[in-house]
This record gives sequence, structure tokens and C-alpha cells, in this order.
Amino acid sequence: MKCPKCNKSMKKIKVTIQDAKSPVTSFQCGSCGYFDFEEKSIHKAINEIKEKEMTLKIKQKIIKLSHGRLGMYINRDVARSLKLKGGEEVYVSVPDKKCFVVNLVK
Ligand SMILES: [Zn+2]
Repeated sequence: MKCPKCNKSMKKIKVTIQDAKSPVTSFQCGSCGYFDFEEKSIHKAINEIKEKEMTLKIKQKIIKLSHGRLGMYINRDVARSLKLKGGEEVYVSVPDKKCFVVNLVK
């Protein structure tokens, strides 16, 4: 690939971007310093960063309730991001022994 500014050939360099899983391919001109990202790989990295930002992960404790039941608070941030107000119905499923999924009934 040639540099669009000075027409010299550009070096292909893989760079890593914080919060993106895949390295991003970039082109760098050693002559004039022109720098550009390969469109396909920068889009992939942007999507990976967005995905990471959207995953809300909060560590919290299961609390003991009466009659052998257990409970969990729904944190304000979680409630806000899911637009929960209280009183909603949910489906709880257990896909494996380390995970349970709560789906909103809609
Ligand atoms: Zn150049």
C-alpha cells in the first residue's frame, strides 16, 4: 500500500488497542509519518470495545431470607440499565451449574 501523501510504500503494523481483543492493522509511512488504520480491523476493534462497555459486571452477595430462600439485591445501575422499577415478572433459568440467567418477561 502506498502513502496517499507522499506516495512512498507504507509499513503494515499490527497495533493493540485497549479493551479491544483483536489487534488492529495499521499502515504507517516511514517517510512523512502518515498513519492510518485498515478500515475493516478498526471497525472490529470498535465493536469489541462497545461490547465490553455494554457488559455490566457487578460482584455482590446472595442474601439469606426466611424459609430457606435466598435473595439478591438488584443494584441501582443494573435496574437503571434494564429500566426496572420493581414488580416486573422474570424467568429464571439455570443453563449450567455456575450460572443463572434472569430474563425479563415482555
Ligand atoms: Zn508518506
